[in-house]
Amino acid sequence: MPADLDKLKARLQEIYDLEAIASLLSWDQSTYMPPEGSSARGRQLALTATLAHERLVDPELGHLLDDLEPLTADLPYDSDDSSLIRLARRDFDRATRVPADHLSEFYQHLSESYEVWRQARPEDDFQRVRPYLEKTLDMSRAYAEFFPGYEHIADPLIDVHEYGMKASRVRTWFSELRQALVPMVERITQQPEPDMSPVHQHFPAAGQLELGLDLVHQIGFDPQRARQDKSAHPFMTRISLGDIRMTTRVKEDDLTESLFSTLHETGHALYELGIDPAYEGTPLATASSSGVHESQSRLWENLVGRSLPYWEHTYPQLQAAFPDQLRDVPLEAFYRSINRVQRSLIRTDADEVTYNLHVMIRFDLELDLLEGRLEVRHLPEAWRSRYKQDLGIEPPDDRDGVLQDVHWYSGRIGGGFQSYTIGNIMSAQFMQAAKSEFPSIDDDLGRGDFSHLSQWLAEHVHRPGRKFTPEELVERATGRPLELEPYISYLRDKFGALYPS
Ligand code: ZN
Repeated sequence: MPADLDKLKARLQEIYDLEAIASLLSWDQSTYMPPEGSSARGRQLALTATLAHERLVDPELGHLLDDLEPLTADLPYDSDDSSLIRLARRDFDRATRVPADHLSEFYQHLSESYEVWRQARPEDDFQRVRPYLEKTLDMSRAYAEFFPGYEHIADPLIDVHEYGMKASRVRTWFSELRQALVPMVERITQQPEPDMSPVHQHFPAAGQLELGLDLVHQIGFDPQRARQDKSAHPFMTRISLGDIRMTTRVKEDDLTESLFSTLHETGHALYELGIDPAYEGTPLATASSSGVHESQSRLWENLVGRSLPYWEHTYPQLQAAFPDQLRDVPLEAFYRSINRVQRSLIRTDADEVTYNLHVMIRFDLELDLLEGRLEVRHLPEAWRSRYKQDLGIEPPDDRDGVLQDVHWYSGRIGGGFQSYTIGNIMSAQFMQAAKSEFPSIDDDLGRGDFSHLSQWLAEHVHRPGRKFTPEELVERATGRPLELEPYISYLRDKFGALYPS
């Protein structure tokens, strides 16, 4: 076994490195590359993707796995070696089931679709993207058909992001969550809105960036293994476990933009920084799922970063960074301004309470499209009617309606959106479990001590990397299956106190 295992690891490391090279090229494209570099960069990215894919579907890799798999029968499910072989098999099977010509047609289609969407959105022109979206839907359904035997046509698409999770279960969680959220939004929005003037003053960009880095160093962002740059849309990417890149963007008239995007991306970065370094170069050295990743970003952004205890400790630092703007603003007023709840049209600007309603609308529409119950030409109308029903407002145009998110114009329809809400649900369950092991966590945050929380997350969530499926990870970390109760209680407690009626 050791000789074959070494051969397997050498092959997997080449695939890992090619993917890392692609990530570095993409990071550079989003941060420092001059605009005229884009067509050559597209070619270079396509080449690295092709080289990685060729290695992944190499029949020799399959033979190696055939030889190794019987030897794992005696190993525990969670041993590093059996987990490595299990994940390599999963990736190999998925890659070999999808014909190469389907993939190349799809990526070609997506680059056209994205370009058309980029022009059509500012012009509010859904008709222009409609044929592209129709083809995306056809090709998303065709992708699912490469994995016959599914329970729901969305399941193979969900598997890409949340391995093993089924549309039927997501649907059940979401309908229960919607029943809790709709009346909560109703109750809160009948009350007076908080004063937003504390965060809507002039805050010079340099000061915001400096403060943001100060704050994230305090929660464990390690400058020896991670760095921050600026980009149009904030993101985090891994080059290796010792080289994590994140980006932020700054608005000088809105303090919340950079502050919370920095905390959000830091949550993603801390996850990657916490993975067992022994997994470097293998398929274990990544997140369990998109939802688990999002649970870490939302935990630091919201459960810590928008909490009162965190600001009891941190607000004096913020006031010291911006004395003219915040000297006379009491903590309570600042805290209320960063937790405003309002009915809004744009998902990415939404607050903690309404955010999931945006996500669930998209998830339901995706299922309707995939099941053939909704045609693309009726999508704008379906979008408006669901917004009216769930959020009580309707977009005046498609620009802020069905055209607002890039996802359907640069990727498959189905499989992606649910992870944002799954991440929120998980974040509360993880926090509850961490607090039951370390009941002092709220007091710790109030003193700027993040050690217990970081230690719990590193041990239960970060270190295993991709060893467990998202639902296995939650159950092992918290002793419970994934459930809504901690998240709904968290929202009720926090927003019940902020908006007592
Ligand atoms: Zn995120």
